Amino acid sequence: MTIEKPEQFNENIDPVYISNQQFDRAADCINELKTGLIEFLKLPKRINIINFPIEMDDGSVRSFQGYRIIHNNVFGPGKGGIRYHPDITIDEVISLAKLMTWKCALVNIPFGGAKGGIVCDTKKLSDSELRRITRRFTSELANAIGPHIDIPAPDLYTSEQTMAWIFDTYDMLHPGQNNWPVVTGKPINIGGSYGRREATGLGCVIATERFLSKALIPEQQEIAGARIAIQGFGDVGSVAARYFFREGAKIVAVSDSRGGIYSENGLDPDAVLDFQSEHGTVVGMPKTMTITNEELLESECDILVPAALGNQIHSGNANKIKAKLIVEAANNPTTPRADDILVKKGVFILPDIVANAGGVTVSYFEWVQNQVNESWEVEKINLKLKSKIIATVDVVFNHWQSFVVKGEIAVGTKSDKEDVRRPPDFRTVALIIAIQRVANATLLRGIWP
Ligand code: NAD
Repeated sequence: MTIEKPEQFNENIDPVYISNQQFDRAADCINELKTGLIEFLKLPKRINIINFPIEMDDGSVRSFQGYRIIHNNVFGPGKGGIRYHPDITIDEVISLAKLMTWKCALVNIPFGGAKGGIVCDTKKLSDSELRRITRRFTSELANAIGPHIDIPAPDLYTSEQTMAWIFDTYDMLHPGQNNWPVVTGKPINIGGSYGRREATGLGCVIATERFLSKALIPEQQEIAGARIAIQGFGDVGSVAARYFFREGAKIVAVSDSRGGIYSENGLDPDAVLDFQSEHGTVVGMPKTMTITNEELLESECDILVPAALGNQIHSGNANKIKAKLIVEAANNPTTPRADDILVKKGVFILPDIVANAGGVTVSYFEWVQNQVNESWEVEKINLKLKSKIIATVDVVFNHWQSFVVKGEIAVGTKSDKEDVRRPPDFRTVALIIAIQRVANATLLRGIWP
């Protein structure tokens, strides 16, 4: 997916290259990882590419391309969102499916990694066109998804409504069985879970709170009083903004695809949501300064929350970032070169596989509820979410500390052919834990035949 001003930096942002680089940095620190296993863990298990025609509202016919990819299913059925975006590529979906494998392993939920996407611009499609696209894609996937095979969920520009259409199509094609668990993120009254819509944003805030309590940023040990800038004011960004605000943070800037707004005195997320639903964008809200998405990333704040697209923080702007902590609500928002720059600057990054794991965690709760036809109360769900996220932050932090004690991590020694020693970062440490878990499980299951 492209970023706003790619000419500003010179860096390879191919998604597979980046995910392999992140993998190699972690794998280089795992001594006992078998070479053949490394290849298996880097490559996707199964790729579905589907081309299909759709009759448009005006009677014309258009072809669309969609992907559904399972990266790994050692821990269970594939799990991961489906995104609709005009710039989506198969390589991006592969890298996102990998990320889901590591995320599920890190959070300890019994799913593998998967991801899907359709190349389309939802802003230029009517609801009935979107419904036909979703139904046709689901029917073409046929048995490639299923409650115990691969379970989609919402992502960029897909919603509860999209999930309802996927469920309905799958249910018609597979009558006579409980199909509720085929997809998560459904509307509440058709098998959805309380708390799922809020889960990613809330998980992000819980992870931030726990991370700050570790006192790595002495002057910022709690959310209250923090100045927060959030890029992307969709399902994840807007919910995170509301919970940060509730915890006493000052939301100084938010943005969407059309640009951003800034207020030194702080924004009320509910008022921004009201303005956005009336005007289709946050831009133009009274008593705010209009800024670009690039300016938002570089704005004066304590915590920066990218909650939109990938590769937004790169070698061209990493040095200009003023936040002390970056909380990755979006998937893959930071490039490896930016990681290096930021770690040297002393900026902490709470990586995506920790920061946005709340979504897949409550998706798992929805899947469990669907198996037994139960509907848990939101208080129970949020408590369970909180304990999962806290346990995840703690395990990553404790592991990170053991690297701090041992000294700096050597990164890239095997893969990049450079001997670069640098302080340990949370992304590499989180990946080390996740990769080790998946590798161990693969060997414990025994390689078949
Ligand atoms: P969404 O479609 O609800 O919202 C996306 C937001 O990003 C919108 O406000 C949109 O206007 C904005 N945006 C789009 N292009 C932009 C650009 N060029 N610059 C700035 N903003 C832009 O999507 P979402 O579900 O909130 O997902 C956001 C991110 O969080 C994605 O990276 C997604 O993979 C990740 N994520 C989502 C979930 C989930 O449960 N929805 C879970 C984990 C991770």
